[in-house]
Amino acid sequence: MEYRTFLIKYGEIAIKGRNRYLFEDALVRQIRHSLRKVDGEFKVRKEQGRIFVDCESEYDFDETVEALQKVFGIVGICPVVVTEDEGFDKLKADVVDYVGKVYPDCTQTFKVDARRARKNYPKTSMEVNADLGEAILESCPGMKVDVHHPQIMLSVEIREKIYIYSTIIPGAGGMPVGTNGKAMLLLSGGIDSPVAGYMISKRGVELDAVYFHAPPYTSERAKQKVVDLARIVAAYSGPIRLHVVNFTDIQLYIYEKCPHEELTIIMRRYMMRIAEHFAKESNCLGLITGESIGQVASQTMQSLAATNDVCTLPVYRPLIGFDKQEIVDISLKIDAYETSILPFEDCCTIFVAKHPVTKPNVNVIRRSELKLEEKIEELVKTAIETTEVITVE
Ligand code: ATP
Ligand code: MG
Repeated sequence: MEYRTFLIKYGEIAIKGRNRYLFEDALVRQIRHSLRKVDGEFKVRKEQGRIFVDCESEYDFDETVEALQKVFGIVGICPVVVTEDEGFDKLKADVVDYVGKVYPDCTQTFKVDARRARKNYPKTSMEVNADLGEAILESCPGMKVDVHHPQIMLSVEIREKIYIYSTIIPGAGGMPVGTNGKAMLLLSGGIDSPVAGYMISKRGVELDAVYFHAPPYTSERAKQKVVDLARIVAAYSGPIRLHVVNFTDIQLYIYEKCPHEELTIIMRRYMMRIAEHFAKESNCLGLITGESIGQVASQTMQSLAATNDVCTLPVYRPLIGFDKQEIVDISLKIDAYETSILPFEDCCTIFVAKHPVTKPNVNVIRRSELKLEEKIEELVKTAIETTEVITVE
């Protein structure tokens, strides 16, 4: 069957009352953005609680569906056959033709589900269901009606034109990006932070990101891996402005001045401070990390409290209650896993202590940080000034 149109189903955003149009407009915008990468010409239009994508040139079905599956806010993608309303006999013939082409073996159970957006149509929905059902049974004697658990739910929507479909390809769910502000993702080369970014973006949040690297201790390839991960997340979230901060001098200074078992915590506090600086500069309403309680020493409840202590913006930790395997499952689903497990060094692991504190006391940490007084402000200032911003599409 050759389809020229997709009907886009959206869930949650239909509930948003008077603001509904804002959500629909954002969804249309995101669909257009996502289809720009696909060969072909597409028209995206909004019509009475539905969004349609018309394919106006040759196009690749799989590639188009894949792009639509990356748009948050879509719950279902339905390839539809569109016909003009030229009388009921014509509709019957079109429906029989559709069923014959899509289900040639003719053995399934089915139910017709007609809907009239146009109430002046000469038949009621019930009549349309009954009459089309009868026509299908006549032309495909192997099929049976099952109104409770049909294998095929054949939808017929009567609007200006008539739309016939029976396949709903699952979408990404969530809410369209751009409907819930922007947040700054702390993106490392690991498994967790790309998943965290994906999850917050799924709720309609635009993303910027910050990555701390420590050349020459971390390589150009480790940085490239983070850029690649940002690109994978950006396929869902839209463009990300990735801030690449040179963290080496700050790390070395902490290493020189502070107790080694506190290194990770103090380092993470400086990451948060710098991330927050860029967050405020780019109008972000919060920070996002890939932390999960107890995963490593720096993610115990005490360590999280010590890290959080320096933040004034809300810190969103969508993986906080997840087990590693649950995070890996999402990482695989969004195709980030293969990239995340590439074995490049991370700036945190290089300066990591043999026995890091697992229950840091905030007051003790604050006191240790006083030892940095002499140079740290200057170092942070330089790190901020020399930050490279890469826009990742
Ligand atoms: P990930 O898999 O995301 O790297 P992780 O399990 O390795 O996480 P940590 O290294 O403790 O955990 O980092 C916790 C969180 O801190 C990360 O999820 C990320 O949000 C942030 N983070 C850690 N290192 C960096 C870095 N080099 N640049 C930016 N953010 C970082
Ligand atoms: Mg990490």
